[in-house]
Amino acid sequence: MKTETGAVVLVGSREDLHIQEVSRRLTAEGVDAVVVDTLAFPDETRVSLTDDLDGIVVDGRPVGRPAAVYLRGLHASPLAYLVDAQEAMDADWRTTLTAFREKATLLNGLVSRWERLGVPLYNPVSSDWVMHKPAQLAALKAAGLPVPRTLWTNDPEAVRHFAAGGRVAYKPVNGGAATRELKAEDLTDERLGALAAAPVTFQELLPGEDIRVYVLEGEVIASLRIVTQALDFRQNEERLEPIELPAPVARNCVKACEVLGLRWTGLDLKRGQDGELKFLELNGSAMFLGFDAGGGTDVAGHFTRALARHARR
Ligand code: ADP
Ligand code: MG
Ligand code: MG
Repeated sequence: MKTETGAVVLVGSREDLHIQEVSRRLTAEGVDAVVVDTLAFPDETRVSLTDDLDGIVVDGRPVGRPAAVYLRGLHASPLAYLVDAQEAMDADWRTTLTAFREKATLLNGLVSRWERLGVPLYNPVSSDWVMHKPAQLAALKAAGLPVPRTLWTNDPEAVRHFAAGGRVAYKPVNGGAATRELKAEDLTDERLGALAAAPVTFQELLPGEDIRVYVLEGEVIASLRIVTQALDFRQNEERLEPIELPAPVARNCVKACEVLGLRWTGLDLKRGQDGELKFLELNGSAMFLGFDAGGGTDVAGHFTRALARHARR
């Protein structure tokens, strides 16, 4: 196609360390890396889309149909990582939210056009629907993969019924709070009344080890054990140990990635009371720099080389 540019596009913020690292490595490999700075859009980054699928100009440069795209983040919500919309929200939340929705629609439209053009996206936007955990875990289970017994609900009675089946953890449906154990005192009318404000995830409590696995294009490229005393490992890592996954577990990780239609992912697994490793989630834009630094893995290298290969075809 005439507008094929050979560049690899990185969608995210120049302030994001993952964007910086991937950009630096691509440049070192002689690949043209173009950042579409979505955090700086629309105040600085300029984007124009015509009614041709490949009519795409970013900061004055025709981007058309790139060789590959790393989709790190759209920064299209006041709640998104690195976004600071406090002042604008305080001044006029309705106009601010409307502007974010406009931004989100344009950026989602942009990346969807690349998918439509057959550009390899890391990750495809057509997989977005399985990035919602209530769809994701059920899809994994339907494919025969081990997931913890889980209930997403705002119904107090359903929670009481679920909690009678053994130890239960609870956590947000999307994010914003840590995972905690559900205790008897959480089952009062008053406490469960909070479900009228927002639904919550209730899940079989998995007391065993935390494992993080990276899969890229059908292969496990890194696996680590996260050694911690806390129930929720984030911010509580004590040590990261690279591990060799048993072959059936590695096969399941690759299969999970395929079932969800992802080109790459960082998966969270945790061992249950029964000794089985169960899937907690597959992340569509997994962070990896901290794991590489702490566990001696090379996700950054594998990932960048995969992007670079498309540019050299
Ligand atoms: P997030 O998208 O917020 O990372 P996860 O489902 O991966 O959500 O949960 C975050 C962490 O909380 C997990 O890595 C694990 O350490 C802990 N956790 C989550 N679910 C459970 C559970 N059912 N039992 C025990 N710990 C859990
Ligand atoms: Mg997680
Ligand atoms: Mg997550």
